[in-house]
Amino acid sequence: RFGDFGCGTHALGTFGVRSCSRNMASHIAGYPRMGPKRELKFALESFWDGKISAEDLEKVAADLRASIWKQMADAGIKYIPSNTFSYYDQVLDTTAMLGAVPERYSWNGGEIGFDTYFSMARGNASVPAMEMTKWFDTNYHFIVPELGPNTKFSYASHKAVNEYKEAKALGVDTVPVLVGPVTYLLLSKPAKGAEKTFNILSLLGHILPIYKQVIAELKAAGVSWVQFDEPILVKDLDSHQLETFTKAYTELESSLSGLNVVIETYFADVPAEAYKTITALSTITGFGFDLVRGTKTLDVIKSAGFPSGKYLFAGIVDGRNIWANDLAHSLGTLKTLESIVGKEKLVVSTSCSLLHTAVDLVNETKLDDEIKSWLAFASQKVLEVNALANALAGKKDEAFFSANAAAQASRKSSPRVTNPEVQKAAAALKGSAHRRATNVSARLDAQQKKLNLPILPTTTIGSFPQTIELRRVRREFKANKISEKEYVTAIKEEINKVVKIQEELDIDVLVHGEPERNDMVEYFGEQLSGFAFTVNGWVQSYGSRCVKPPIIYGDVSRPKPMTVFWSSIAQSMTSRPMKGMLTGPVTILNWSFVRNDQPRFETCYQIALAIKQEVEDLEAAGINVIQIDEAALREGLPLRKSEEAFYLDWAVHSFRITNCGVKDTTQIHTHMCYSNFNDIIRSIIDMDADVITIENSRSDEKLLSVFREGVKYGAGIGPGVYDIHSPRIPSTEEIADRIRKMLAVLETNILWVNPDCGLKTRKYAEVKPALTNLVAATKLLRTEL
Ligand code: GLN
Ligand code: ZN
Repeated sequence: RFGDFGCGTHALGTFGVRSCSRNMASHIAGYPRMGPKRELKFALESFWDGKISAEDLEKVAADLRASIWKQMADAGIKYIPSNTFSYYDQVLDTTAMLGAVPERYSWNGGEIGFDTYFSMARGNASVPAMEMTKWFDTNYHFIVPELGPNTKFSYASHKAVNEYKEAKALGVDTVPVLVGPVTYLLLSKPAKGAEKTFNILSLLGHILPIYKQVIAELKAAGVSWVQFDEPILVKDLDSHQLETFTKAYTELESSLSGLNVVIETYFADVPAEAYKTITALSTITGFGFDLVRGTKTLDVIKSAGFPSGKYLFAGIVDGRNIWANDLAHSLGTLKTLESIVGKEKLVVSTSCSLLHTAVDLVNETKLDDEIKSWLAFASQKVLEVNALANALAGKKDEAFFSANAAAQASRKSSPRVTNPEVQKAAAALKGSAHRRATNVSARLDAQQKKLNLPILPTTTIGSFPQTIELRRVRREFKANKISEKEYVTAIKEEINKVVKIQEELDIDVLVHGEPERNDMVEYFGEQLSGFAFTVNGWVQSYGSRCVKPPIIYGDVSRPKPMTVFWSSIAQSMTSRPMKGMLTGPVTILNWSFVRNDQPRFETCYQIALAIKQEVEDLEAAGINVIQIDEAALREGLPLRKSEEAFYLDWAVHSFRITNCGVKDTTQIHTHMCYSNFNDIIRSIIDMDADVITIENSRSDEKLLSVFREGVKYGAGIGPGVYDIHSPRIPSTEEIADRIRKMLAVLETNILWVNPDCGLKTRKYAEVKPALTNLVAATKLLRTEL
């Protein structure tokens, strides 16, 4: 067994039996899988490449699980999760558990192995992968279950039970975590061929028998608590959906009897109706609520009350961010809750699984000490949860609390956080809508006089293929292995190559190819003040892929121009217009760990002011077309309808701040990479860009249908004419066909022709023929007009 499961400094005999005055109740909703140095990622990728065996991979996974359980047990956590590990994704694990393998993977029944599992996740030589989509409003992607009336269910993965037993063999009694049946169904999509009228919730009766089998096995293995993750409860559910909860957990009642059951919710507060529904479920012993993003959770509990005799799992340590908890403040909130639910019934928990934060601060060797003292990654958050639980139980670790208080105070007063000038400039934004003085059609006329572009102008989205050589040059410059002069020469050569290619292809509005950028957010973050970077602060995005978001810790300002040097060089190489290329404020915000000491919109406005300065410097340097990418604007949309308008208002406002000051003749582009913008089309129009390029080719009809339905769009628009995510080269006819479809619904004089997104993940062997066909198709269409 691992260490002591003690109260304070007491050593205890048997896990779960405590000799001190009362139980410290601490719970972790879930934990990152990748490992502190992305060990799982490297093992997975080696396995997929055939470089290591399945046993090797399983060994890495088992070691990671063991070290996580040990760490939580050593810390003193009472409710330690199991089955939150995954080789790819917990929703896919649930699909495996239920045997809901789509037919095309030719699975023959039995226990699902790596072959079938990874084929569903990643596709194989003959069958493409299942669809992936964002997990609520996080940057984690799950594999979308495909369910139809013909889906056959069977108990096909014993992972939950196996993990429980594995931990138990190591001396740790865990709480197995299952994706709840209702969330699972509501996140599914109808399988191909299922009727439009097919109701996925009608499958409840088919999946519950499998859940019952799993529960029975868990019981037999000695489980005392089981956790059902039902985050869908924080969305706007209708009464039919809510009734499904009642149905599901009532149906499970006899299987669950004798077990403690917690329903875990996260990412927002649970709306009053849903709260009423679940707290009325007699089968459920505990409820997990997010007290961080769930800003109204406390009020809901206060006003609706809490069922007596039940446990409240209070998600007070933020699972979505990297800041150290304000322990003194949290303790106050917990005491309030304690007075409502009772001393013995309060469990200190994380706001959600720690999957969405970085793993361990210990590995941040390059981070400044003061900033580091303000942070807590997953490993540190486990200690925070435990410290809070101890304090509630009357065993406050004074040293831990006072170190925390000191760090909170230093963060509040640090001059690195506050920049009075930025504060003043941001405050001065109030009261103006920041709109360009002239309307878009007049601006487009003025720009056309200056730019003199052909009808159906062609352009690309920004990046060109990132070769191994290019990555090497950037890496060596960063490591001081080559001089600045050598670096500049190499990048200049690359830009020159990209410019020449575009001229040969006869593209109208050029890009410099972004060879100096590693990443569209990091590149700007590194040059702005108020940003810090980690070396190992990775967060799983999907499968083995991780992202390393910058940390915005202070007021944001721009000490000097960030892109003017490269854009001017690029413009000097051609007589065609060269687009200045910037990342927009909302995207920088949404792809970073942001401050929690001021509202998101305030941070966004600050970034907007920095980007505004850059826009104006580019304009002054003679750049007439400036693209401000807002790739992540839509993904910041709140989970609840009632909060959408407020977000869209400040997000769109932030974008306008960046460019409201430019001349009519300066053409502002923006770019978005998702096709379902139908629901936010009003906001997109309100951004008031001169031209928008937008991903489209994977769902042509959907995007165009907005305009068919009569939405007036007067600005320039370039719906992508081919998919850049695939190596496939689109033919001239195919692209011409796409353009014809667009011309059927959009005015000729506003249509642009461009690919879906940047080309950085493609090879030149794909990009050149694809763009050749794009230009050929455009020229063909011009003759038809
Ligand atoms: N300008 C960026 C590029 O082309 C845009 C990337 C994106 O939209 N994700 O790479
Ligand atoms: Zn894009």
